[in-house]
Amino acid sequence: MHRFGAILIVSGPSGAGKSSLIKAAKNQIGEYYFSISTTTRAPREGEKDGVDYFFVDHETFEADIKAGEFLEYAQVHGNYYGTSLKPVREALEAGKLVIFDIDVQGHAIARERMGDLITSVFVTTPSLSELERRLKSRGTDDEEIVKKRIQNALVEIEYVTAYDFLIVNDDFEKAVDSFIAVAKAARLKKGRKQALSFVNRWRES
Ligand code: 5GP
Repeated sequence: MHRFGAILIVSGPSGAGKSSLIKAAKNQIGEYYFSISTTTRAPREGEKDGVDYFFVDHETFEADIKAGEFLEYAQVHGNYYGTSLKPVREALEAGKLVIFDIDVQGHAIARERMGDLITSVFVTTPSLSELERRLKSRGTDDEEIVKKRIQNALVEIEYVTAYDFLIVNDDFEKAVDSFIAVAKAARLKKGRKQALSFVNRWRES
């Protein structure tokens, strides 16, 4: 049977531990494709072009918008971030689980466009003060940027209600277990088109 893929959207404030969770769960969620976003933000220390993000300038990003390259894009903390449509479509056709680490605006847009293929999870710290502590101790961003991220987190948290699952990243091991369960559930989700074609085949065989 031809299996169509599914999408798992992971959102939550910067510093809540989204990328660490995805990395820790990596070997336990089966084959997946992590959607590498394009951004106009400058690379952080240790980040590589084509691995963490595709780093581009403003003009290139805007040209890509015009060319219809993005499944969704948004401005976050004053920079553009976007998900390219083509690799996502290919991964879905290959039956893979596609994981997006995108913000709440991107989640809303993707839901509108591909809602029935999407499972979503919001990852956050147990409290605002804990988020502040983690962002400061990460030490990769200067004070002004940390402030912006915290202000943004206060807005983002309001969107929790739009997500299927919530993971409070307090005990990391437990959060990883929850994330694995969510990723496995996401794989089992089917779009309407896939469900209808299954029903037709089921009747005929
Ligand atoms: P950071 O600068 O910390 O890597 O990411 C900042 C925020 O942008 C995070 O909330 C992250 O989920 C979000 N983000 C990363 N890539 C994308 C994308 O392609 N689209 C959208 N809408 N948000 C993204």
